[in-house]
Amino acid sequence: MSVHERLAIIRRNIDEACRRVGRGNNVRIIAVTKYVSIERAKEAVAAGVLDLGENRDDGLLQKYEAIGKEATWHFIGTLQSRKVKNVIDRIDYLHSLDRLSLAQEIEKRATKPIKCFVQVNVSGEETKHGLSSKDVIPFIEQLRNFTKIEVVGLMTMAPYTDDEQLLRRCFRELKQLQQRVQALHMANAPCTELSMGMSNDYAIAVEEGATFIRIGSALVGEE
Ligand SMILES: *Cc1c(COP(=O)(O)O)cnc(C)c1O
Repeated sequence: MSVHERLAIIRRNIDEACRRVGRGNNVRIIAVTKYVSIERAKEAVAAGVLDLGENRDDGLLQKYEAIGKEATWHFIGTLQSRKVKNVIDRIDYLHSLDRLSLAQEIEKRATKPIKCFVQVNVSGEETKHGLSSKDVIPFIEQLRNFTKIEVVGLMTMAPYTDDEQLLRRCFRELKQLQQRVQALHMANAPCTELSMGMSNDYAIAVEEGATFIRIGSALVGEE
């Protein structure tokens, strides 16, 4: 199936998920192109997905070079502080803000405010990056005086499972946290967005309130 055909299916699934829970469809699809060629990434753009996600600095730079500002660029992987300078002025969104030292490096290097998601390890799996839920609000409070960090929302990666209840618990906890941060009305932390949902769980994530979903294999993966 072409990217175009897969996109139609994904859009329909999102519409249906929104309808099931009575929410408006304000869901943005990020095409995660980390496994695929520049050509394949261009197919996604041609099909109308203008949000692209990469998880490594070299991958991001390669795709950015070829596609440029036509797309909105999302960095979705662990970002080492020493790599910040390579990517920071090319990306629009960072989905993996998870420590103060990274925020400090961004503050030093960025020439414009970066829209950041604070990554939360809701599931508590040891292999996953992100802050534990209880550390999220103290962390965001430490960012109050940062001028290059705008906390637009929270991000999580759910466990890789088809246990629907477990996935829902994870997404609900992230949403509750997001609402608590939003209620603090911090100037640089509007925190209105939820980046959650991947190829195998995006319909559930949308039912639970995702506003950005990050889709790799189901959209651009070759099979
Ligand atoms: C790879 C990746 C995705 C996309 O995964 P798929 O299962 O291929 O949709 C989403 N988010 C992050 C953080 C990733 O690393």
